[in-house]
Amino acid sequence: MYRKNAWKDYSASDVKKVMAFAKDYEVFLSASKTERLAVKESIKLLEKAGFKCACKASSAKPGDKIYFLNKNKNICAFVIGKRPITDGLRILGAHIDSPRLDLKEHPLYERNEIALADTHYYGGIKKYQWVTIPLALHGVVCKKDGSVIDVNIGEDESDPVVGISDLLIHLSADQLTKPAAKVIEGENLDVTLGNMPLKGEDKQPVKANVLKILKDKYNIDEEDLLSAEIEVVPAGKARDYGLDRSMIMGYGHDDRCCAYSSLRAILEMSDCEYTSCCILVDKEEIGSVGATGAHSLFFENVIARLLSLQNDKNPLFNARFAMENSKMLSSDVSAAFDPLYASVSDPNNSAYFANGLVFNKYTGARGKSGSNDANPEYYAFIRKTMDDAKVHWQNAELGKVDQGGGGTIAYILGNYNMNVIDAGIAVHNMHAPMEVISKADLFEAYKGYLAFLKA
Ligand code: MN
Ligand code: MN
Repeated sequence: MYRKNAWKDYSASDVKKVMAFAKDYEVFLSASKTERLAVKESIKLLEKAGFKCACKASSAKPGDKIYFLNKNKNICAFVIGKRPITDGLRILGAHIDSPRLDLKEHPLYERNEIALADTHYYGGIKKYQWVTIPLALHGVVCKKDGSVIDVNIGEDESDPVVGISDLLIHLSADQLTKPAAKVIEGENLDVTLGNMPLKGEDKQPVKANVLKILKDKYNIDEEDLLSAEIEVVPAGKARDYGLDRSMIMGYGHDDRCCAYSSLRAILEMSDCEYTSCCILVDKEEIGSVGATGAHSLFFENVIARLLSLQNDKNPLFNARFAMENSKMLSSDVSAAFDPLYASVSDPNNSAYFANGLVFNKYTGARGKSGSNDANPEYYAFIRKTMDDAKVHWQNAELGKVDQGGGGTIAYILGNYNMNVIDAGIAVHNMHAPMEVISKADLFEAYKGYLAFLKA
């Protein structure tokens, strides 16, 4: 069902289903503030649905449900199909990293009796959006003895929050003449941690007190922060948005809304013709680089390992054929048309809230540069799959020509010569601390992903 408002078509019982699905997602999103936490929550859902860690698998027979974990930040789940894996897979790929601020390796300092933490932002952000809001700290500290300590401050009602200060309006005469990109400088995105000196300490007593709190709570020293991964993210839970509760406001919809709806789709697969796959990757927001990003050899290796579990004599070679014969939805978010900023969009090629799963034939910028640009033959297959399953869907590109642009992981998997198209959920305020999506779109995405895995 192309470009129709889903709410208009829903029966009362449909609306109930959509609301229940959204509620489950809000719980997932609120618990998944980092890629590591998203992986943890995903494993909970997978294991509850009968998926087993590949580390415990000795074979991969049709109907088997297996997941592979990569360095706790990247996960790949499969339901083995009846056809040989070399016939190709049906792949849903989403990313679970989101824009945020990361603590620097040597973050702590004290200035004028305030303890602060230095950060370096991660991904594309409008820096001025990250000041004067409640922030939480999430991550791990890895000690030399091999222990890994989970840090979580700012989510529990009884926890304190942290934050970044901004200049008062009364003294902002100079600041307000700066362009928005310069109003808040990256090096000024430092987090306030405390103001209470440690009694009996002369040298940087406020910082010393913060270190004591960290020592008491987590048994970590300042040097341990060198081998840590602490992410500063908006504090608090995802919530219903709008008086009609038709939308969800929360941190990290990009791209955990597509990750969750993809996961929910594969959880329901059994008895499939082609092997179903859901891969959740890290590092998309900084170019899909590194061991846990989409450019990593992990995915290719995992397909080879699956083939090995089926006693394939030449798994690495055959993994290439499996990839080449695969079909993929790059499940990533799209920009939702915003009537307050209509001028940046082309109305016929924009995504609208509640009009369903968004297909982007291409992304990129300046003449489609960097885009995967899906083949029309494949797009026709997608249209049929969506329409046959009565999924609400729409097309979009990211803004008007030469207005800007963006990329996804689509082209990276496209390099394996597989058919890939971007398919995701429309978002307002993308990359802001609080993003907004439509509950109807979330549900239609799940329906679309499920139809695709079955096609
Ligand atoms: Mn994204
Ligand atoms: Mn993004």
